[in-house]
Amino acid sequence: MRASCIKENIAKMPYVIHGENRDWEVIVGLEVHAQVKSKAKLFSGAATDFGAEPNSQVSLVDAAFPGMLPVLNGFCIEQAVRTGIGLNAAINLVSVFERKNYFYADLPAGYQISQYQRPLVGEGWVNIDLACGSSKRIGIERLHVEQDAGKSLHDQHPTYTLIDLNRAGVALMEIVSRPDVRSPEEAGAYLRKLRAIVRYLDTCDGNMEQGSMRCDVNVSVRPVGDNELRTRTEIKNVNSVRFVMQAIEREAERQVEVYETGGAVRQETRLYDPTKGETRAMRAKEFAHDYRYFPDPDLLPLTLTAEYVAGIRATMAELPDQRKQRYIDDYGLSAYDAAVLTAEKEAAEYYERLADGRDPKLAANWVITNLFAVLNKQGRSIANSPISADDLGALLDLMTTNKISGRQAKEVFEAMAEGGGKPEAIVAERGLSQITDAGALEAAVDAAIAGNPKQVAQFRGGNDKILGWFVGQIMKATKGQANPGQVNALLRKKLKD
Ligand code: MN
Repeated sequence: MRASCIKENIAKMPYVIHGENRDWEVIVGLEVHAQVKSKAKLFSGAATDFGAEPNSQVSLVDAAFPGMLPVLNGFCIEQAVRTGIGLNAAINLVSVFERKNYFYADLPAGYQISQYQRPLVGEGWVNIDLACGSSKRIGIERLHVEQDAGKSLHDQHPTYTLIDLNRAGVALMEIVSRPDVRSPEEAGAYLRKLRAIVRYLDTCDGNMEQGSMRCDVNVSVRPVGDNELRTRTEIKNVNSVRFVMQAIEREAERQVEVYETGGAVRQETRLYDPTKGETRAMRAKEFAHDYRYFPDPDLLPLTLTAEYVAGIRATMAELPDQRKQRYIDDYGLSAYDAAVLTAEKEAAEYYERLADGRDPKLAANWVITNLFAVLNKQGRSIANSPISADDLGALLDLMTTNKISGRQAKEVFEAMAEGGGKPEAIVAERGLSQITDAGALEAAVDAAIAGNPKQVAQFRGGNDKILGWFVGQIMKATKGQANPGQVNALLRKKLKD
């Protein structure tokens, strides 16, 4: 059992906030804007590269010049359908683009083309992985396709706000969950799972720091046992999993405090300030009718055929849950280990390369226990691992063929993590090797027995523990290079004679 599983019972306990007189639960729904991985924008051929010179990737459509007409990019729709299938969701063969009207300087058309009444993707679900291999299903309400706005830059000029339209018109998938999330931990697991799914499918790069996945969090609280939902607040644009988890905790505590001091929670949009660790009111929440949605007269309803959807379904990449199940079935791994190894596509690929032709459980153990610890400590992702899968494999081979002991393998592993290098070279350089030659081991065992008649008598008198002492003597005599398993077996045999 892994150390983290000791927490299993704690993890299964519902997340509650203890108020003055009662306990409260938190209800969370998440809206994720995921940028479609595509070379061109949703309604224009302009490029979408991150970090390009401001306003260098703007077509006349993106800048909303009069008379310019949007032309739908079929690849973006394919990516969204693929994502919808990955969310186990219904694909709507007819969907409608509508105008969401509001004024802002980075929205030159005065409206965003989005989907409202009839989204491309309907209801679905994802499984989230919780502590110790347990999981929970979170409902998906919809996924709709829409265009992004430009960016307002407030910190580039003392008196002006500058506008960069590179992002204007980039395709987004807005993925709306049901209010099924009940704790910060579940919210974190949901976001990580969503990110894993889009990365496995290659439909979004899932990079929250660069803004290709942005999260709005809807939070409300209610006394444990109540069934009615209370007023919720929306925390906008939280840009990391950790901050989403913190924001939920802080906001839930704030709402409990408001109720317990006799106040009422107002429906509003709030911001999370990670440096202060608090949410702040931004503006009163607008309602859907404020936006005056109506079907965009420049665009026909989007009509797909069942064959088109079936074609995408037939070419789906393996999803994280499928890969997890395969690891359980084919490699005999626990649900927990399988979930950990498949959470990131790169980690799963690393593991499979390592496990190829080797003991899959041994490989899983080394990746989860040793490699992940090193990556954690060095703040690296597996893509920049200091130890390649092939080099780690070579190290495991040295160990399983008894060329080095498990303890020596650990030592070589540490050296590889610190300074790189091939395991064979480190073994040679440090003079590490294990004595497995039967003749040499027998001589060492014979010497130990001949030199310690008192301890031999103790063993024969029934003191079994003295065997460990003998092993220690022999390890010392061989400078730790004897194979402990073989020494043990030889000792038993010889002491019984
Ligand atoms: Mn949106």
